[in-house]
Amino acid sequence: MSNHQLPCEKMPRHYVLRGCQWVDKEGASVNTDIEVLDNRIVRIERGGKIDTADLSMDIYNTDNQLVTYGLCDVHVHLRQPGFEAKETIATGTLAAMKGGYTAVCAMPNLNPTPDSVEHIEEELDIIRKDASIKVYPYASITDGRKGHRLVDMNRLKQYAVAFSDDGSGVQSESMMREAMEEATRLGVIIAAHCEVNDLLRGGYIHDGNYCRRNGHKAICSQSEWEQIERDLRLAEETGCRYHVCHISTKESVRLIRDAKARGVKVTCETGPHYLVFCDEDLKDEGRFKMNPPIRSAEDRDALIEGIADGTIDCIATDHAPHTADEKSRGLKGSAMGVVGLETAFGVCYTHLVKKGIISIEKLVALMSLNPRRIFGLDVEGEANFSIFNLNSEWTVDPEKFASMGKSTPFEGMHLYGQPTQLIYEGKIFNL
Ligand SMILES: [Zn+2]
Repeated sequence: MSNHQLPCEKMPRHYVLRGCQWVDKEGASVNTDIEVLDNRIVRIERGGKIDTADLSMDIYNTDNQLVTYGLCDVHVHLRQPGFEAKETIATGTLAAMKGGYTAVCAMPNLNPTPDSVEHIEEELDIIRKDASIKVYPYASITDGRKGHRLVDMNRLKQYAVAFSDDGSGVQSESMMREAMEEATRLGVIIAAHCEVNDLLRGGYIHDGNYCRRNGHKAICSQSEWEQIERDLRLAEETGCRYHVCHISTKESVRLIRDAKARGVKVTCETGPHYLVFCDEDLKDEGRFKMNPPIRSAEDRDALIEGIADGTIDCIATDHAPHTADEKSRGLKGSAMGVVGLETAFGVCYTHLVKKGIISIEKLVALMSLNPRRIFGLDVEGEANFSIFNLNSEWTVDPEKFASMGKSTPFEGMHLYGQPTQLIYEGKIFNL
């Protein structure tokens, strides 16, 4: 464990968080007291006070603070092993802590690819040594994420949170069908980055007005939704538990909404940047380049609707750090990917909750409860908490990030809602 980089102290064996705004699985309730013994939640007193008079427990005053189960991001790139110039498990998990997360799921775009027990063990060794919070690795669906040969899912399933070839779509329908049949047999999740390579044609931003006006090469929406449409059909036929990564188009929202109504076992995520920006907000800077790209205003509004009506289950950052050099070449030449762990809560609180689009309970569901439930990461009664000051106003300054990646479209944005402390495995961290 290397989380000593943040100031922290040990929590007492027996304590009470007094007067917090607590969002639990049934919804929010103000002025809740939470009693913790040996890192387990033993009592939650809604609206009432736990009598601490004749008990030897410490009291932590959390008046006017939001307290939640630790946030959980199911889509991050920690870049290690293989790409340590971009990020490491140590810096990436520190960034996650500063964003209010106590758990992340790490994508398999690594070298070596976690496509065998030997390879995933290499990643797990670094996690055990350097991670300051829980890191659940994905294994790839196919060898080397190349899309040709299925990994040994049966051997990998005890190590991997789910299976994904993130970074590219599985192009072959028969390959994806085989993967889903095996996943169904084993009871594991396929999480897919959906992208039809034949439709990319060298594009790198959304096929919209900004792109045409400025003579860039376009990524059409169909490259995403066409593969989602195929996979939803396969998931329906095979009975597979299917999770769609970072959806960005209005068609994707509609397809998933319809599939859910038919009883397909599908869940999905989108990222904060797709909910806040549209292509008219783009600047010719690397910090606005990621895959999938920021889409049109219509797409953004459809995603917000999908959040509000429950079609979209999770907000995940797709935290994807690169070096400053790789992000310095404008929209055309920069690498795809932006960082997100240290801004996600403030961005979503400011742009979704404060504007009255969703409730704070809904936001906590999207960023903590749903991701844990869907991926089976919920440890009942575990006293790992994120603490937020919702009234705190702050400005996004990438130079202050713990992440090695500094490229974010949210740079300079004024936000409300700041993670202030984490209680994790019996210690309290000041963020
Ligand atoms: Zn992806």
